[in-house]
Amino acid sequence: MAKRDFYEILGVEKNAGDSEIKSNYRKMAMQYHPDKNPGNAEAEEKFKEAAEAYEVLSNPEKRARYDRFGHEGMRGQDYGGYSNVNDIFSAFSDIFGGGIFDDFFGGGGGQRGGRRRSMAEQGSDLRIKLPLTLEEISKGVEKTIKIKRYDTCNTCNGTGAERGGFEKCTTCNGTGEIRQVSRSMFGQFVNISACPACNGTGQIISNPCSTCGGEGRTIIEDTVQVKIPHGVESGNYLPLRGKGHAGRRGGQPGDLIVVVEEKEHKLFRRQGDHVIYHHTVSFPEASLGAEIFVPTLYGEEKIKVSAGTQPGTVVRLKGKGIPQLNGYNHGDQIVYLNVFVPTSLSSKEKSLIKELQQSKNIIVEDQPDNEDKDFLDRIKNLFF
Ligand code: ZN
Repeated sequence: MAKRDFYEILGVEKNAGDSEIKSNYRKMAMQYHPDKNPGNAEAEEKFKEAAEAYEVLSNPEKRARYDRFGHEGMRGQDYGGYSNVNDIFSAFSDIFGGGIFDDFFGGGGGQRGGRRRSMAEQGSDLRIKLPLTLEEISKGVEKTIKIKRYDTCNTCNGTGAERGGFEKCTTCNGTGEIRQVSRSMFGQFVNISACPACNGTGQIISNPCSTCGGEGRTIIEDTVQVKIPHGVESGNYLPLRGKGHAGRRGGQPGDLIVVVEEKEHKLFRRQGDHVIYHHTVSFPEASLGAEIFVPTLYGEEKIKVSAGTQPGTVVRLKGKGIPQLNGYNHGDQIVYLNVFVPTSLSSKEKSLIKELQQSKNIIVEDQPDNEDKDFLDRIKNLFF
């Protein structure tokens, strides 16, 4: 199928600026996000298509090449071809951090208003790390986090002044404006700007609040509830609008940014959405076959070790890995079987093994060197 024009996909003109491209892409990603269109293959296709177009048009070098050569010029370049939507999220985590991601993550509402004319200053963002276990990640989790942050001062309500503690700004005489008159050969110009002394409010604090010393905010300890969806990984973050530091003197609060950090698991290693687990069986179990129990993130699971199992044999537990973030797939648990070779033996055990050693099926025959091939066969389907 012929690819559609990238500009057309994002609904922008050929000469569109970066911010227009970015904002159109955001809108489309919002509209066609799989979470908002469950089971809608067409929406997912559009979502991927938009991501592909954005990837090229947001990169000056790729965009220039595309402009000159079209899709033909993109051939062999590493772009697009996203196999799933998670790839798109990981590829563009920065853009989603700016707004779209909050919506999917359900970050607290409230748009920041325009800057008010006051001594107010916007509060800064507060970043905290949230360590999570693989078990928590596999199910999704709600956490209560303790934070220390600036909060609006209760005594002065954030104004920074005691009651009646304001007086008229002497620099601007209470007007909040500074007029500068300049003359030139074309006549007289009056330039009006906000008074720097009172920041345009016309008032200055004569009697600062004794609780906050005029800051309009104090440090408090706070607890915040956060809901983390399943399938997250280290580096994913959850911005909570307006839950960061209160601004100075009544300024808008910053955001609280919760950054996920995956704790190391003592049994499992994570590989994408799969979980890797190593299990060692005894020589009798490997040679005779056995049923064994292995731990998974969802409790114990019985697996069958077939007679004649070799070290490195892989058993796949379907769906026992980690569910996809923003998706419907589920990773597997991959169990590598190792065979235990005893290291300390009693004399009785030694004589039993020596007896076995003479036995025809125990002896290692001269074998063709096909070890590598066997190994590749065993692992080739693991991750794809
Ligand atoms: Zn105060």
